[in-house]
Amino acid sequence: MDVDKGDTITGAPFVGQSTKATIHRRDKDYYFDDGSAIFLVGTRLFKIHKTLLTRGSPFFQMMFALPSGAIDQDGQSDDRPIRCYDSLRDFRALCWALYAGPSEILAQANPKTMDISKMISITVLGQKYDFKILMDWALDMLEGFLAKAKGNFIDKVQDWDRVGKIFVISKQSGRSTLAHRIEEDWLHHILDREPYALTNALIMAEGSPEFRTFHAKAYYNHLKASGVFKSKPSEKDVRFIHEIAAPETNYLQSLNDTQKLRILQGFWSLSLLKIELAKVPGPKLPDNPACATHARDCAQVWREWWEDLFDEAEYHDKPLEDPWNIIEAASKKASKPMKDPEPPCDDMIRAGVKKMAEDFFSGLADRFMIP
Ligand SMILES: [Zn+2]
Repeated sequence: MDVDKGDTITGAPFVGQSTKATIHRRDKDYYFDDGSAIFLVGTRLFKIHKTLLTRGSPFFQMMFALPSGAIDQDGQSDDRPIRCYDSLRDFRALCWALYAGPSEILAQANPKTMDISKMISITVLGQKYDFKILMDWALDMLEGFLAKAKGNFIDKVQDWDRVGKIFVISKQSGRSTLAHRIEEDWLHHILDREPYALTNALIMAEGSPEFRTFHAKAYYNHLKASGVFKSKPSEKDVRFIHEIAAPETNYLQSLNDTQKLRILQGFWSLSLLKIELAKVPGPKLPDNPACATHARDCAQVWREWWEDLFDEAEYHDKPLEDPWNIIEAASKKASKPMKDPEPPCDDMIRAGVKKMAEDFFSGLADRFMIP
């Protein structure tokens, strides 16, 4: 956290182009007397070394290559600083990254000592100012954190906007492992019915087509969290008699009309899918004219295999009621041969089950009418 105490106030208040006097304070850590470029962020002045900026950033190389006087803020005095419209937190983190010592850098590799807020700030400004190596390093640290402290990222950041920014940057820079871990953490928060987890997911995903599948998963997890696929109601969240039918318990009320339509359409479509999956004797096996005993042996094994799927789940007291849980369980079961001896079409049937799992997520956004 930034501490403001101890900052010095520059002599006379700076009078800018407007007539309003503004007091600019020098940053206590990053105003170096022998620095070579003065920046103004908010009302804070920074004097840092150009070499450190140009060394890692083509953006600053270009900026400082401009002929002197081409910009009216040249960064050579407190009266003519280079203005940056970043948050103080982000800019100080960038300075930290430029000047940090080896032990401070090393501490970031340990989830217990890592400063997650700094890593986010460095990633955000690293992208903005083209500090590729710094940005990649901060993303590596975040990825390490998410691997070791699973499910802890969002709780630690406590700021949906910043979580969203890292999610977007990790997608844009092809960091699929990191993006996947953030997605898992986010969906888990929706499943836990954390206030704002869904609305923030929708805000982020609605403007970004590359988050189409995440968008659909957000709705899907919200549906799961509401328990609509369960045959037995949850014992948690039991409401009082006066709450049950009261208008404010309408759980769709925080959504706009488009979002309401999407969730209703998705629910309808997934409910039909669930009915299809739970039907006895299960989905129909496609014909295979090349298999002589298909109708007898293969179809028989398939029917028993599918029924076993539900029996086994029931036996373990984890009934399959959610459409994805049915497909997921089938897909797991399909990693082994169906029976010993294997039926002639064993490979074909199991490939079909696995394809069902792929199709579920690739088609999920269509179920929620996500454009
Ligand atoms: Zn067959």
